[in-house]
Amino acid sequence: MENQIQEAPSENSTKPKRTRRPNKRPKNNDDALNAVQANAQVNEETPSTGRAQNSIWSIEDFPVAKVEGKLRFHDLNLPDRVIKSIAEMGFEYCSEIQAETLPMTLLGYDIIGQAQTGTGKTAAFLIAMISDFLDYPLEEKRPNNFARGLIIAPTRELAIQIADEAIKLTSNCHLNVVTLVGGLSYEKQKIALETENVDILVATPGRLLDFARSRKVQLGKVECLVLDEADRMLSMGFIPDVKSIIRMTPHKELRQTMLFSATFPKDIQALAQQWTYFPKEVSVVPKEATNQNIDQVIYTVEADQKWPVLKQLINENGGQRTIIFANRRDETRDLYERLRKANINCAILSGEVAQDKRVKTLNNFKEGIIQVLVATDVAGRGIHVDNVELVVNYSLPEDPEDYVHRIGRTGRGGETGKSVSFASEDDAFMIPEIERVVGESIRCEYMVDTSL
Ligand code: AMP
Repeated sequence: MENQIQEAPSENSTKPKRTRRPNKRPKNNDDALNAVQANAQVNEETPSTGRAQNSIWSIEDFPVAKVEGKLRFHDLNLPDRVIKSIAEMGFEYCSEIQAETLPMTLLGYDIIGQAQTGTGKTAAFLIAMISDFLDYPLEEKRPNNFARGLIIAPTRELAIQIADEAIKLTSNCHLNVVTLVGGLSYEKQKIALETENVDILVATPGRLLDFARSRKVQLGKVECLVLDEADRMLSMGFIPDVKSIIRMTPHKELRQTMLFSATFPKDIQALAQQWTYFPKEVSVVPKEATNQNIDQVIYTVEADQKWPVLKQLINENGGQRTIIFANRRDETRDLYERLRKANINCAILSGEVAQDKRVKTLNNFKEGIIQVLVATDVAGRGIHVDNVELVVNYSLPEDPEDYVHRIGRTGRGGETGKSVSFASEDDAFMIPEIERVVGESIRCEYMVDTSL
């Protein structure tokens, strides 16, 4: 992994401090930074946060041993209410992106972060935002529809996942999370804006712009702005919308901005610099293009053998949580029907399924109520469900990068996973290109349906 933090901010930093929080966390700066810089020093004690302790719960109820090379959330002097949620979510140590960014963002610095899904970047920016809002509560009442924090994500699925994590992280404090995404009821979202304080607004660009232009949501007092998966926003053509949205927020000197992207093509580099104020740059790039925990295999099959071999595979791996990727919607529909007829507990996740149904499907899959999901690339992107045991590429993706995204749904968080990719005479020519992208050759097995 690569760490590109430019410099540790200090009282003597020559770069100007933002004016939004003149004395942001002055007492705690050294604690947080020292913790990162000296986390090689191991001792057993659990520090007090130095804040008023909650009489029912205190940080002592969440003991986490110091481990060399790892940063604990305890070491960051977070508000107790945030630490409590972190404890309830089962996090103990910061992931790398969290350890690299939080000491900076908690001081109010802007961040340009290179990190992919699966690194813990969502909690990284949410913890910084929530801690800031708790440390600096609003001094005066303002209409509900003024957003304090704004998170822009390219897809509905990603926005909903971010909102879910925000809800968990705010479960012990009075901060509301409102989600504005296309495809879900406009009316319900309008009512949410009218009836709740919009503390954290998570949105996709198009729907947000609709609401902002009609002044149903106000962005003029945004304190913290997050742009997630910026490269994908570019490739999906959202940058003009995002630019219009950012123009409605306070000047960059008066807000905190965190921008995350998996890749940094020139356009994103330029926008990142334009939108941030003396940013700290952090990069957490996986060592390998694909996860070493994934056992990858290609089944070479005749086209008419794909379905029987798939059925056999699913039956043999009875009960395993599985995602099957296909290239086209009609292919997913066809597969779904066949699986259903074969009494396999399955659901579709493709662009043609209504958004509320997709959310429900994903939740059912997460909870194990559904065993097999049949997905297209767009619908499957950015989805992180832990413990997916098997990914099947029923057809090889047309873009080899999608192969990496697809198989990355399994083998997460140190678990082992398996990917099986079907290659028939129509698409086997793509194997070398896929192997080039993953940087290794993939084991091939010739398969025929043996159950006949
Ligand atoms: P993300 O990269 O934000 O999509 O996060 C990937 C997954 O890691 C999510 O399921 C998070 O809830 C989980 N996660 C985030 N931070 C931590 C942490 N410090 N310890 C354990 N799991 C985490």
